[in-house]
Amino acid sequence: MQEGTQRTMIGNAAMIETAVHTRPVRRWSLLGRALRRRCPQCGSKGFFSSWFKMNDHCPTCGIACDREDGHFVGAVGFNTIFSFGALLITLLVGTWITYPHIPVLPMLGATFAVAIVVPMLFWPFSQTLWMAFDLGWRPAADAELDPRYLDGLAG
Ligand SMILES: [Zn+2]
Repeated sequence: MQEGTQRTMIGNAAMIETAVHTRPVRRWSLLGRALRRRCPQCGSKGFFSSWFKMNDHCPTCGIACDREDGHFVGAVGFNTIFSFGALLITLLVGTWITYPHIPVLPMLGATFAVAIVVPMLFWPFSQTLWMAFDLGWRPAADAELDPRYLDGLAG
């Protein structure tokens, strides 16, 4: 299958390849929007209804907030990597500052606090960042976007 095409079933067995019109967004725009907790595709603020609740679709461009089954796994992976990185930095900085008399209980308290707080704070950014990476690899097809949004791009 060529890039930029999709296979469509006709009848029971036949398939045709048809062109897919995509809406690529510059990767820096995707990243910048994701880091501001906005829709990576259009930059709208309506991607989330609350800190932890992501909408089904972006209210502006209409793209599905989880584009396919398993989309959530990538965001969880991002959140895990970021959270473990924060834990590592906490342990390294704490050890570096207090060496050689490392206070074990305060260090444990600090790492527990980081392990609980950081994943919650980073959660929405892990969602938008994963979406941005996904859109960088697989730009949104016109079929994924709201026709009114596409009309706005054209006009
Ligand atoms: Zn959008």
